[in-house]
Amino acid sequence: MKTFLHFVTICMFAGLPGFVTPLSAQTYPYELPKLPFAYNALEPVVDAQTMEIHYSKHHANYVKNLNAAVKGTEYEKYSLDELMLYASENGDAVRNNAGGHYNHSLYWNTLSLNSPFDLQSPIGKAIAAAFGSVDSLKKLLTKAGASRFGSGWVWLYVTPEKKLAVCSSPNQDNPIMDVSPDRGIPILAIDVWEHAYYLKYQNKRGDYLTAVVTAINWDAVNKNYSAALASPLLKSIELDTWKGLNDFHEVMGQTFHPSEKGDLKPIREQSGDLLARAKALQSGKIPASFNTPEIRKSIENLVKGANSLHQMILKKSDDKAITKKLAELHEIFHSIR
Ligand code: MN
Repeated sequence: MKTFLHFVTICMFAGLPGFVTPLSAQTYPYELPKLPFAYNALEPVVDAQTMEIHYSKHHANYVKNLNAAVKGTEYEKYSLDELMLYASENGDAVRNNAGGHYNHSLYWNTLSLNSPFDLQSPIGKAIAAAFGSVDSLKKLLTKAGASRFGSGWVWLYVTPEKKLAVCSSPNQDNPIMDVSPDRGIPILAIDVWEHAYYLKYQNKRGDYLTAVVTAINWDAVNKNYSAALASPLLKSIELDTWKGLNDFHEVMGQTFHPSEKGDLKPIREQSGDLLARAKALQSGKIPASFNTPEIRKSIENLVKGANSLHQMILKKSDDKAITKKLAELHEIFHSIR
């Protein structure tokens, strides 16, 4: 698994008695969080029986299965965020159950009948700026939920560009995960699995959606918004979605790792492609948090190095010189990522 910036301040507080570990910083063994309201608190939007089964059976099972998937593996030492961020590398059991635990925890957190929308709050102003009005946002959420085929979720999330957006995802995926085409940090969750509504609404998912968007805990969404904007996770997602860097990394990996074992065939065949990708990285958009003089200088050095390497290969330089040059290029790459 790739390295990840830990939440230093959160970790400092996480061990104090009485302090509830923030969701994102949780690690194995995972625990079912206390439901922040009574089973009947969302009546009539969500009935008490649905709430009880959903929380005490479905969510509890995701926690149990997540612990079983992580126990005795290298994943024990990673945070919930890390398990989700690199979901593509971690196997389906981790992906589905880490998502199941995170998604349900956020869903409970963002439901309430007693937390009205406040246009003057930071999230109120951001929603007005992004969607025109809270009613327009509710329409987008409802539409996203109605058009999600099969089981899944609807999200209001903060993008790496710090904008608000709405999307839906299948199964227990969410926008933190690298498997998701829409990336960012969710701040509002709506469960559209049948188990979330079937006892009361049967097949009428639209009726459930129309009702559930009237039961949003706007105070919690506002707090989640501030936390997302300040979260190191957002910067990690920004880095993970930097296309030019990923494209360069792809060929770097295909050529450098064989060269470490003395196999120079890949770099001899792909040095032109590596140079082209370095140039594309230089001319493409650099994500805001990474657009610094130091990183721009490193990218310039990548282009220069890739150019020298390509010339060496055209001139059939000796293996030792090519291996050394490629290792230098790899070092420069890792000064960026
Ligand atoms: Mn559910």
